[in-house]
Amino acid sequence: MTHSQDRPESQTLYQAPNVAGYDEAFGSLASWSSCTDAAGPLLWGSYIVGQLPHLRGALEQCLNDGEELATSLAEYDAELQQATGYLRPSAKQKVRLALEVALLAHHGQKRRSGEPYIIHPVAVAVILGGTEMDRDAICAGLLHDTVEDTVLNFADLELLFGATVGRLVEGETKVSKLPKMASQMDTTLSNPADEQAENLRSMFIAMADDWRIVIIKLADRLHNMRTLRFMPVEKRVRIARETLEIFSPLAHRMGLHAYKTELADLSFATLLPNEHALLDAAVNSRLVSYQDDLASAQAQLEHALQADEWLHGRMRSVQVTGRTKSVYSTWKKLQRHHCGIDGIHDLVALRVVLNPEDHISHISAHLPEEERLGSGDRKSVV
Ligand code: MN
Repeated sequence: MTHSQDRPESQTLYQAPNVAGYDEAFGSLASWSSCTDAAGPLLWGSYIVGQLPHLRGALEQCLNDGEELATSLAEYDAELQQATGYLRPSAKQKVRLALEVALLAHHGQKRRSGEPYIIHPVAVAVILGGTEMDRDAICAGLLHDTVEDTVLNFADLELLFGATVGRLVEGETKVSKLPKMASQMDTTLSNPADEQAENLRSMFIAMADDWRIVIIKLADRLHNMRTLRFMPVEKRVRIARETLEIFSPLAHRMGLHAYKTELADLSFATLLPNEHALLDAAVNSRLVSYQDDLASAQAQLEHALQADEWLHGRMRSVQVTGRTKSVYSTWKKLQRHHCGIDGIHDLVALRVVLNPEDHISHISAHLPEEERLGSGDRKSVV
């Protein structure tokens, strides 16, 4: 691992690459390979402790784990690579840097499940990748618990990842104080839960000066719900209720259907486990018999839409997908209509997603050169 015999090992290990910032480092292959040599499986180990000397102890301990570190790091990296395949190579390098910083910062911390804490931020980033969030959101997902739970502060994050990531993590840390406010409101408010949820929702939005903060928070909650079984029972019920009343409706309003459905179903399974199990089995047994009908209906509709002349040139893509009703929304419907499961007619349905042509960029192409700004500013110009 070390290359130079005449220097004490610690000095060789932590020699920071000779670069002013990571942007330069990314540009230079020489410094990239020197990073690789210097800190074992960590590509950015030396660079990180050069910038953040208070992580030096963590790096030393990490490197003692040797093989184990290499294996788990490769595993996390593969998960992230798979989830963020849509990112540019330079963005992926920044994600890798965020992974290594989070790994060092959380070193030695464990989740209730007994697993290393780092699996949580990695899972959150993977969830965010599932909705193709941008580089800064993925990095903030990896780092979202570092300021609250580790030696890192906002200035550290800003130094390595820029102001946006720092701001996202700061928002994340603020929003995480909300559950406490919720439980305080619970004791003082005699009004219905709806009002409480509504108040919380607006506060949420007001506190989040960037919509990505809310999405990261939702991804954080989603992974916590997936691993809720490791919580004590009484906590589980409180968290599940809060998820059902606040986080799931919030996901719905943000247009994050997959988050909303999974959050609601996981909460439902915690709050009413018997009802959930019965209904889940009933829905699944019926889905099998619908499968063929759904497939042929999907093919027919797809064909008809492809042949439609009006849509040509107006839509970049037309997608038809099957969707099944979530267990929780099936249960709600049963409650509302006081009917049996066979009285529900939209257990399966088709969903059509139209992706319109980008008229803004079309218009912008006709603008005189000086009016044309970067793609991010186009909307304000037009
Ligand atoms: Mn978290």
